[in-house]
Amino acid sequence: MYKKGRAWIELQMKNLKHNVELFQRLLPEYCVLMPAVKANAYGHGAQEIGEELQRLGIQDYCVACAEEGVKLRQEGIRGQILVLGYTHPREFDLLHEYKLTQTVVDYAYGKELESYGKKLSVHVGVDTGMHRLGESCTNYSKIRRLWELKNLDITGIYSHLCTSDGTTEKEREYMRLQEVRFLEVVRFLRADGRTGFATHLQGSYGILNRSRLVGAYDYARAGIALYGVLSEASAELEAMYDLKPVLSLKARIECIRELKQGEGAGYGLAWHADSPCRLAAVSIGYADGYPRALSNKGYALVQGRKAPIIGKICMDQLLLDVTDVPEAQPGEEAVFIGKSGALEIRAEEVAEEAGTIANELLSRLGSRLCRVVKTETNTGHP
Ligand SMILES: *Cc1c(COP(=O)(O)O)cnc(C)c1O
Repeated sequence: MYKKGRAWIELQMKNLKHNVELFQRLLPEYCVLMPAVKANAYGHGAQEIGEELQRLGIQDYCVACAEEGVKLRQEGIRGQILVLGYTHPREFDLLHEYKLTQTVVDYAYGKELESYGKKLSVHVGVDTGMHRLGESCTNYSKIRRLWELKNLDITGIYSHLCTSDGTTEKEREYMRLQEVRFLEVVRFLRADGRTGFATHLQGSYGILNRSRLVGAYDYARAGIALYGVLSEASAELEAMYDLKPVLSLKARIECIRELKQGEGAGYGLAWHADSPCRLAAVSIGYADGYPRALSNKGYALVQGRKAPIIGKICMDQLLLDVTDVPEAQPGEEAVFIGKSGALEIRAEEVAEEAGTIANELLSRLGSRLCRVVKTETNTGHP
């Protein structure tokens, strides 16, 4: 199969390396980067990203569920893989067989893990105020009693910040409060004689806004920003960072149509030509994860020029107005995220137009898209 035949993702691995090195410089030397490769590595392709991270020397990863961890193992990823979410007791065998590290989502769940009967590696989740997963930070005795469960090999303890991307004083204050609560739990456990566990707290924004924090942590779980993207373009960070996007999204022009003034195009004839124009049908649609909300709204780049999306985006195709792009021909590429000539479309702006954040846009990019890896020696050309 020709990977660039229809619609595809290009992965610029030198940008991934750049971002990994940037993060390693931002973090203290003792703090280990633990990339979040959940949701198919935020849509980039978990296999491709996992393999490249492993080549870059990364030895710790986090995923959303056991199945994602199993896939990484089957693709040859070694080291620690932390499952951040709930795993059903019927899947505890997977944790054991594939040597995955499971999050203890609360005390009751710790007892479920214990009753599996075999030793499992775990990190204890602590809820410091997001109120998603983790035993409540106020339940000191329950957290301490997890260490009495003999089948739990507790190698880490962590919490998750929910306002670390915030810009208001209130949000900053809450971030600090969460950290204080987490550090108190850690201090309590150490005073109680529990040692030998690693600690972690920060996601991307916790790293990028790290001057708001005071503690020292063993891992940092970086997701979105490691891919060179922020959740929102308007994000205000404590500094400017030179993050480089890893992903480009491209598709082929299938054919070109000339329309007369007044003719409509696409489902529901949701667009009409004000004047004679040229349309290109392109082989990418919402089933590939390109949001239908961008109907009559988004644009692509063809040969370094803007081509507006017109009419309703279809499941597998969409239409571009290429009246002003004489180079547009069948077989030519259209860029939906990434660079073309002097222009660039960033994932953050596409997400904003579609009414969401880049995390959702990217993680929904579908399995039908081929992933083409570009490295220093391989430019991604066939
Ligand atoms: C997804 C996730 C991360 C990574 O978050 P980013 O904001 O993408 O860096 C870190 N920790 C937990 C618990 C997560 O669920």
